Amino acid sequence: MSKRNTSINLSDLAVQLGAVDAKIIPTYQVVVSDAVRWKCRFGCKNYGKSLMCPPHTPTPEEMKRLLKEYKKAVLFRFKPDSKSLVVELEKQVFLLGYPNALAFSAGPCKLCEDCDIEAGYCIKPDEARPSMEGCGIDVFETAKNAGYDMKVLTSRDQEYLWYGLLLTK
Ligand code: SF4
Repeated sequence: MSKRNTSINLSDLAVQLGAVDAKIIPTYQVVVSDAVRWKCRFGCKNYGKSLMCPPHTPTPEEMKRLLKEYKKAVLFRFKPDSKSLVVELEKQVFLLGYPNALAFSAGPCKLCEDCDIEAGYCIKPDEARPSMEGCGIDVFETAKNAGYDMKVLTSRDQEYLWYGLLLTK
């Protein structure tokens, strides 16, 4: 592995790749909560329908353990039609010399018409990443910790941005 290229700011890179904005945060600001998983389980019509959603995604306990291995994260916001930037950012950061860069997306995975849950593995590993919330991350609290003023939307007609997270060691 070549030396890490630190001349490129990772939040700037996220914006260059299509994020609306991005912030570098310490991983202790990432909040994980059992309640988030329960909200997926009861009330989300996408629960269980893809390998990128619970109960197929890592549990909050696993997520908490993982976060202890990472120091920094890039929290970024993106438009719903820019979801591909999540994996692209992970790839670009990996190439900068961060071999453990790991990205989390938002919302359900709709890359295939029907997700083959029975197979137990994703057929598009170069494109799909689990959502933050699907792994128990409390996106509202995490965004608040990072200084974002995130509010509950009251209508499906309102415009919204999604949040993604990239973990780096
Ligand atoms: S990319 Fe396809 S196989 Fe992979 S999780 Fe998404 S829907 Fe399932």
